[in-house]
Amino acid sequence: MSGLHITQIPVLTDNYIYLAHEPETGMTAVIDPALADPVIEMLRKEGWGLTHILNTHHHMDHIGANLELKKLTGCTIVGPAADAARIPGIDIALADGDSYELGEATAKIFDIPGHTRGHIAYWFEADAALFCGDTLFSMGCGRLFEGTPEQMWSSLQKLMALPDETKVYCAHEYTAANGRFAMAVEPDNPALRRRMEEVTSLRAADRPTVPSTMGVEKATNPFLRPDSREIQENIDLVGADAITVFAETRRRKDLF
Ligand code: ZN
Ligand code: FE
Repeated sequence: MSGLHITQIPVLTDNYIYLAHEPETGMTAVIDPALADPVIEMLRKEGWGLTHILNTHHHMDHIGANLELKKLTGCTIVGPAADAARIPGIDIALADGDSYELGEATAKIFDIPGHTRGHIAYWFEADAALFCGDTLFSMGCGRLFEGTPEQMWSSLQKLMALPDETKVYCAHEYTAANGRFAMAVEPDNPALRRRMEEVTSLRAADRPTVPSTMGVEKATNPFLRPDSREIQENIDLVGADAITVFAETRRRKDLF
């Protein structure tokens, strides 16, 4: 098995759309298509035919091209069971613990609510690839539009349990802004400082900082680091439990 070929398409201000092509069967999925034209252009360039749309959640910048792409290609639309009513054209609804096969590639599904009520992640274990939408970002996490800090923290813990080498294909290029907040709450973290240098030079060269890896996120992302003494000190919560520290960190990021 030669594994998934993954391509990244920057669209809108800071969104990423991904294509995942399974070469044995030729199946190709698009993850969170905000727009149709850039997807069609990339499919043409790669010589791939679209067979699936994999949605992580219902926001417009993730489902915007669902119906147009389905009409053009007859592709199958897959999305979160917990929010099936808000996923246009959904054919297959998935929930926590389900598996989904894209040809020879298998994705394990996690329910990761918090940003929205129904939000799922697709983990292609053999390819060490995680498509996590707007739940986990590089050095950040999604805003809590429809969920509680408790839900988001438990969602993030599911993702943190994945191997360090897991590539984190999040749906936005928010890394530099996230990093400025991370530096405000944990300026003495050496891994964070190194990552910031890397991010600064990548962005200066107009290159993506995504995918990150779970190992890098665990070392640098303040939302995954409620046990950090330095973060606790900087938000006046020394010794508090993880959920309290997480909730306060999220609150401060909203105001940052
Ligand atoms: Zn969103
Ligand atoms: Fe989004």
